[in-house]
This record gives sequence, structure tokens and C-alpha cells, in this order.
Amino acid sequence: MTKEKIKDLIAKMTLEEKAAMCSGADFWHTESCERLGIPASMVSDGPHGLRKQDDKADHLGVNESIKAVCFPAGCGTAASFNRDLLYHMGETLGNECQAEGVSVILGPAVNIKRSPLCGRNFEYYSEDPLVASEIAGSLIRGVQSKHVGTSLKHFLANNQETRRMSVDEIIDERTLNEIYLAAFEGAVKKAKPWTVMCSYNRINGTYTAAHHKYLTETLRDKWGFDGYVMSDWGAVNDRVEDLKAGLDLEMPSSMGVNDQLIVEAVQNGTLEEQVLDTAVERILNIVYRYNENRDTEAVFDLDHDHEVAKKVAEETIVLLKNENVLPLTEGEEIAFIGKYAKKPRYQGGGSSHINSHKITGALDAAEAAGNTHIVYAQGFDDKEDKTDEVLLAEAVETAKKAKAAVIFAGLPDAFESEGFDRKHMRMPNCQNELIERVAAVQPNTIVVLHNGAPVEMPWADRVKGILEAYLGGQAVGGAEYDILFGKVNPSAKLPETFPKQLEDNPSYLAGFGEGDHVEYREGIFVGYRYYDKKKMDVLFPFGYGLSYTTFAYSNLRLDKKTMKDTEELTVSVDVTNTGDRAGKEVVQLYVADKESTVIRPVKELRDFVKIELAPGETKTVTFTLGKRAFAYYDVQIHDWQVETGEFEILIGASSRDIALRDTVTVESTVKIPFHYTTDTTMGDIMSRPEAWKLVQSVLSKGMFGQGSEVNEGGDAAKEAISDEMNAAMLQYMPLRGPVSFGGGVSMADVQKLVDRLNAMEK
Ligand code: BGC
Repeated sequence: MTKEKIKDLIAKMTLEEKAAMCSGADFWHTESCERLGIPASMVSDGPHGLRKQDDKADHLGVNESIKAVCFPAGCGTAASFNRDLLYHMGETLGNECQAEGVSVILGPAVNIKRSPLCGRNFEYYSEDPLVASEIAGSLIRGVQSKHVGTSLKHFLANNQETRRMSVDEIIDERTLNEIYLAAFEGAVKKAKPWTVMCSYNRINGTYTAAHHKYLTETLRDKWGFDGYVMSDWGAVNDRVEDLKAGLDLEMPSSMGVNDQLIVEAVQNGTLEEQVLDTAVERILNIVYRYNENRDTEAVFDLDHDHEVAKKVAEETIVLLKNENVLPLTEGEEIAFIGKYAKKPRYQGGGSSHINSHKITGALDAAEAAGNTHIVYAQGFDDKEDKTDEVLLAEAVETAKKAKAAVIFAGLPDAFESEGFDRKHMRMPNCQNELIERVAAVQPNTIVVLHNGAPVEMPWADRVKGILEAYLGGQAVGGAEYDILFGKVNPSAKLPETFPKQLEDNPSYLAGFGEGDHVEYREGIFVGYRYYDKKKMDVLFPFGYGLSYTTFAYSNLRLDKKTMKDTEELTVSVDVTNTGDRAGKEVVQLYVADKESTVIRPVKELRDFVKIELAPGETKTVTFTLGKRAFAYYDVQIHDWQVETGEFEILIGASSRDIALRDTVTVESTVKIPFHYTTDTTMGDIMSRPEAWKLVQSVLSKGMFGQGSEVNEGGDAAKEAISDEMNAAMLQYMPLRGPVSFGGGVSMADVQKLVDRLNAMEK
């Protein structure tokens, strides 16, 4: 429907009808208006499958929903680093939505994995905003190619479940822009989600639902978002203020209570009717965008989509360790140990919980492959963390007799869910004990992990192989089997750092906060940005993951050695498969500012690409870098800024495996005016030659001449203090210093000097 027609419709609506349009008709539908023929539209969770409920609605995944397909959760899909794969998964989800009459799927979720303990980490992508926004962007494009909307969530900074509905997140402006907003920014700008879901929490004192700065100034004015913003379920606190801030649709229904507030506010003049009209217009645009592009032929083919889920899972399993133990050989006796071989843990709890139509565990996959040489022992139960001596003894005996043992372990459901955070980073003791005991009798022990975020691995040195399967969706067992037996070559990489212990994580000290607020004291140093800066040993670094083949990097080329920040840099590199199997590699590009007056991370991921190479094949990978690749967020100009100087371009297979590097000099075209005061230090002025000349000409007597304290010790002191020391000591003296050090100048003289200096900046 054209914009004009929608405007005409709105003009015909009563105030009450318009207010009603701004909140859900029920738990999952937008309001209809029969009188004017406006249809309702359905929204459903999300993000890695369809949780469509008919009645008995809930937002925590407790009640029944339709039989559907559970794809790997965000933690895993991010590990694929594969944009095309995510696009395809999106297309599949979009088609399911068309078949089921769902106009918007509630996801993806791009909140940053700030702490390994966030209960919803499994739904989130990464500790790095670029990975999160690129992966989300690909999924969004895929879904929306089927004329179904997405809801990018939870905007903004919903990085913990502890007090999620009220916690006040105290985050500085630079950190918000470089880390937390950036994850949304890329996805909004590149993929244009039809809707965005605001989060429950507050940011610096204001609920996100009422944050005009983020919902309107940032999302719409800066990034060009043109869909509607909906609330997370129950995130509205002050309906009228929220509407003014840019929150268009309240979900679910408030049973008319909040609609009435809108009506009254318009009537008593505290809300402009135009604000309401704009919100209705945004909602109707999306309702009609979906309704007028219905695919009546679409079919939700559960079995077909199960196979898609399997394909996705193949690329989400990270090979973390392999001491010549993998792949295994079919025909040899292999022990599958652990409950998750039979009944894999493949999804997390809460609103994303899918009613899977079927589940493939690794044992099922072995059976389907006709492998009769697998022996199984349950090893542990995950209902409570208690070692069952009978299960343990049976597992040890089974493992001992086999050629190799694969332990399917991980976090039980009760450890990881929406609604609460994890208490620690450990796996259940009973599972750690099982792994230790099996490894003690079976030299070829491999652990396959099922979890949505890092765990400590006290046994890592005593097993030969480790696979991180994340929460790999309902088809995970097939992907695990094929990777274990070499039918699929693993190609995923960690989208987050696995620290050795929880205490190493930068958010550890401030944790999830005190009382109703949490301070993000680590600032921009989230994930590898912190571990790199601290030169800290980690268990497995960001971007890391092995393959059954090997890759070599060569021939790094930059198309220029100097550039302005308004230009683009083209970077190319050759990657060769030096092994004897086909494989996929994630080529990573990091940028490091070699010298900076601003505190910056050692390096930051600025692009990545996944390529497939046959044995011996070489491919050239090309990246294009613009200003943002070199910039930091400057809080004085409230914008991105590049500091003139040298930058290193680093190409590698992980954040700790940099193969090639080269340098480019970038010149800034934006001069940030320096503001002088009487407190400005001499050191700051020395780095500005013109200004320093002026200061010397005015203050030279008091600072450098007779009578200054530095020279009072006579010749002996002169010898002891070199010129550099003199300059070094002088650097922190404020401009007003000479007034009190007998420089023969008054405060008024200094103020005049300050005015002249500021005038020079103009
Ligand atoms: C979650 C959202 C979800 C919504 C609807 C909320 O509890 O935070 O992610 O989309 O419920 O189920």
C-alpha cells in the first residue's frame, strides 16, 4: 500500500482506534480495525526457529507451540563466520513464517557477550560488535528476502538477566558507541530490519523504552531506521513518554489500559496527535508490507528444514584441540560416553525454546550411517550435579575397551536460560570427574561440548581432542557424527574468548552489579580487546578454530601506503590450502593503531571472510576498509575520529595467530579544536608547535629564566637535571603555574594568553 493510502487510512481513524493500534491485540498480534479493513498481523519468537503459539501464550517458552525446527542458536551460528550460510538459514525461517502466517520473527539478538555468565549468551553472537552485526545482518537479509520482517533485539545493552527488567546499566558514551551500539548499527544500516525490539533495562538512568536519544536520535536520525520499534514483552513503563521517545508498538496487549493513557494525553494536550499518527503509520507500513507480499504457496517442510539445520550445524562446531586423534575411522570400536550422545543439549531455555519435531543425537546419526561399532554408556545424569558411581564405572569400562572415547558433555538446561544468569563458569562436577576418569584409562579421549558460552576446562591438557558444539539445534548429532568421522571438515571459529577462569574476564570485578545498577567499568575492553591489552594467556582465543587441513597466508598487498580518512584502502591476501582435504577458512583482518594519544585496544577485528579451498588451491581475498576501520568514537565531537598516524593491517587465522602485517598511514581530515584553559598543561601545548611558540614568547621568563625553582640548586643541580628531564618535569605544569612560581605574570596575563590560544584554533 502506498504511503499516501496509509496516511488516508490514518486520517479516517478515530483517536481511540489509533491508540489501540499502538499496542498488541493479544500476546502475539497487532491490532486490527475491522471498520477500515485493517488486518491484524502476527509476530512470533525467534530467533533460531519458529515458536508460534496458538493459545496459552507465554514469553518464556513454557507453554506449547507448534512443531517446528530448531536451528543452531546464535552462539553457534556466529561461530560459522559464514554470511551466506546465515542468509540461507534466514531464507528458510522466512519461508516457514510465510507458511505459518507470521509477519515478523522476533530476532536476531545482537547483545554483546560481555560476561561468560549471562544466561542468554546462547542466543547472542559474540563479544565483538562486528561479528554480531554481520551475522545478524545476513540472517535479517535472508528472512526479509521472503517478505517477512525481523525484530533486531534487545536494543540496547541487555547483556545480563540479573534484574533485567529494571537494572540501570551505567555505560560511558565511547563504550556504548564502540561496543554496544555498534552491534546494532551495522545490522540496521546494512540489512534494514523491519522492526527493532527495545530492551527492558535502563541505560544511564533512563529505560530504553523511554530513551529518545537511542530510539529516535540514534536509531532513526543517525542510522536511517524506518520500521517500527516494539517493546520487549512488558518493557513499557510510561506509555506516553515511551511513545514520545520513539517506541511505536507496545507488546503484548495492556488490555486497553495504556491505550487510554494515550487518548487522554492527546485530549489534554500533553501528547501531540502527530506523534501518535507517526507511530501508527510506521506500524501499518510493516503490516501491509507483509500482507501484500503473502506467499500462499509456502509450505513448512519440517524434514527439509531439519536438513538445513544440519548443514548450518556443520559450520558451527569449533575444533578446539586435535592431537592426531581426529577424524575417527568408521569400523573401529568407538565409545560414545555421556547423556548428550543420546539426548543432545541443543537449545537454551526461555522465549527462544522451540518445540522440535525431531532431534538427532550423535548415536542416532551413527545408527543412520550404519555404524555398528559404537558402544554407549550414559556416564552422568544432568538432572542434578551428583556423581553416579554406577554410571561412572560403566563409562570407564566401556571407554577402556574401545579404540577411542568421545564424551558428549556440557551445561545442563538448568545452568543456562533466559531469566537468570549463571553463577559460575564451571561444568557440573560430575561431568568433570567423568572426563578425568575416562581420560585416565583411555589415551584417545575426545570431549564434545554443548553449551552456549565459555566453560572452564580443568581437564583440557589430559584429553586429545575437544569440539565445541555450542547449542547446535535439533540436527546437531548428525553434524557431530560427520565431523568426528571426517565426512565434514570443521570450519568454525570462536566468536568469543574462552578465558582460563572466570576471574580473568574483564567484567568480573563489577559483575552484574550492586543493587539495581551495574557499572561497565571495563569500558571498551570487552573480550579480546581486554585479554590482548593485558597480554593474558587464555584457554582459547577469539577467532580460533582448527581444521583437518592447513592453510597458508601469503602476498599481502595494500593498494596505498598513505591515505586520507575519506578514502578507502583495498587489502588483498592469498590463502592456500596446504593440506590434502578440502576445507573452509575464516580469514580475519584486524587493524591496530600503532601510536595513539587515545587509549585503544591493541587491535580490533575490522572484517572477515570465509572461503572454501580444495587441496592445493589458492584464492585471493580482498577487503575494503573505510574510515570506521581506523576510527575511535570521540566524545568531544560525538563522532568517529581517526587520529593521524600509522596503522597496522593484520591478517590472521585467529586473534592470536597473525600471519601477515603491513602498515598504512592515515591522515585525518577532521581537526578537533583544542580548547585551552588556565589548567592546560605545558606538555599538551608542546605537541602543538605554533601554540608552544606563543606560550614561550609570553612566559619564557618565569618558566625558563632566573629564579625558577628548577635552577635554584645552582650548577650541581643543572648537571643532575638534563634538558629532557627539565622538559619532562615541565610537561605537567599548568599554564597558570608561572603565576605562583615567580614568573612575573599575573592570572589576568595567563587568561589573556588562553584567549589568544583559543583564537588560534578557530
Ligand atoms: C524476551 C524476548 C522475546 C519476548 C517474546 C521476552 O521475554 O526477552 O526476546 O522475544 O519475550 O516472547
